[in-house]
Amino acid sequence: MSNTGVNTKVDVLIVGAGIAGATLAANLAKMGKNIVVVERDLSERDVIIGELLQPGGVQKLEEMGFTSLIDNIDAQPVYGYDIIYEDRDYLIPYPNKNGEPCGFGFRNGAFLQNIRKHILTQRNIRVIEGTVTNLIEDEDAIVGVSYKRKLAADEESLYAHLTVVTDGPLSKFREKLSKPFNKLNGYFLGLLLKNCELPFANHGHLIMGEHPPMVIYPVTSTSWRVLIDFKGEKPPRLGRDFKKFLLEEFKQAMPKSARAAFVAAVEKGKIKTFPNHRLPANPIKKQGAVLLGDALNMRHPLTGGGMTAAFNDVLRLSNNLETISDFSNLKQLGKAIQKFYQTRHLGTQTTNILADGLYGVVYNPDLRKAFFEYVSRGDKYAEETCSILAGLNKDKKLLLNHFIAMARYGTQLKISAEKPGVVVTESLSMVKDAVGIITPLLLSEKPDPGNKLMLEALNRIV
Ligand SMILES: Cc1cc2nc3c(=O)[nH]c(=O)nc-3n(C[C@H](O)[C@H](O)[C@H](O)COP(=O)(O)OP(=O)(O)OC[C@H]3O[C@@H](n4cnc5c(N)ncnc54)[C@H](O)[C@@H]3O)c2cc1C
Repeated sequence: MSNTGVNTKVDVLIVGAGIAGATLAANLAKMGKNIVVVERDLSERDVIIGELLQPGGVQKLEEMGFTSLIDNIDAQPVYGYDIIYEDRDYLIPYPNKNGEPCGFGFRNGAFLQNIRKHILTQRNIRVIEGTVTNLIEDEDAIVGVSYKRKLAADEESLYAHLTVVTDGPLSKFREKLSKPFNKLNGYFLGLLLKNCELPFANHGHLIMGEHPPMVIYPVTSTSWRVLIDFKGEKPPRLGRDFKKFLLEEFKQAMPKSARAAFVAAVEKGKIKTFPNHRLPANPIKKQGAVLLGDALNMRHPLTGGGMTAAFNDVLRLSNNLETISDFSNLKQLGKAIQKFYQTRHLGTQTTNILADGLYGVVYNPDLRKAFFEYVSRGDKYAEETCSILAGLNKDKKLLLNHFIAMARYGTQLKISAEKPGVVVTESLSMVKDAVGIITPLLLSEKPDPGNKLMLEALNRIV
């Protein structure tokens, strides 16, 4: 490496001012760090990702002192979920016994602009609108990035003690800092329902049945986001035939009060698609760099857990870095990153496992029914499951117990319906299916990069 720039190293260089990168910049700035953020597009994005922030994510924002970033964007409080199964439904409120926060629905672009506006006002953060084209390596360390400013022809370079790569779900750089086993699970189709009511105002709605699952939640005071799962290697062609298919397949499954708005949204044709991936974290430790956000780890968005996982990571990484007064101390920096990689699963694993576990369940007719019957019992069956979905409860054992108990309960119901009077003590195929879904997910959360168990588990993910 030439010496150019070595003396002008900033403390932290962040690739991407998205949900994770912009929040990390804001949080590290509070600690007095000298930060540069390079973001390829600072304008407000119009996306279907990251529009429901679970209470656990709100809690992390609160801990960082950033809940005001949800203000003035017409964000809607969300108090729980209505689970709709065929023609029945069951309402599960989020827990708020200990004053835990509720969730929020909002337009992702509006929320992100609030975070970006905040970092643009911080004296120790410089935000550059430009695309990072390369990570600069010196021997085995990352020492900075090359980037091109928007509309500029020439590349420039920036050097930093720590480069945080947070370039999102379609990350270009994750292969330099991890061994990614990225599994495409299909796509979400997103539509906006305008000026209609759903069975429960200010609640998420999960709709399950013979059709692929749908989730609906409020994103402004007059609109609801509908996300419809589409399994496939490629996104659908959004032509006339597809509109017809959407109406035939999903209109009847929509709550009655929202059908007209659904038909209007389909006919208007403003349907966005986005790929859904599962990406267990499998980082490679590299001096001078850390991977964060969807670039590092993704789970199915059915349960809306991505931003909650990102905020958990942002806070954990920030706390590890806080104790380092001089970022040129590479040994301390390395230790802090190592600790982050080794412990981050404690904050994210239940969110990840539940997301992909529930995705497996909604496509298995027996388990889907079992899940509905199980949570409809109310009490701890609903409350504890919902507290994990909310990102407030991180007890992995509790999640596992509920998952297996749900399958046992389903088996019991099925057999007693088919053979009245027979008591089933041994659970059968449903439990086997449930174990088949959850075991690889559990194994893939182990924080041991490249471990053998994880590689085996990844091959078995259904
Ligand atoms: C369909 C779908 C729905 C979802 N819904 C929810 C939900 O309801 N709730 C929830 O919590 N999570 C949800 N998620 C997940 C959530 O959106 C992500 O977990 C979260 O946005 C990750 O934040 P990030 O910062 O890693 O990525 P992003 O927020 O995407 O940020 C990445 C940033 O990097 C920038 N960038 C990329 N490349 C470069 C480059 N070379 N140079 C400079 N900048 C670059 C991008 O422009 C972008 O600003 C959903 C995901 C999907 C796929």
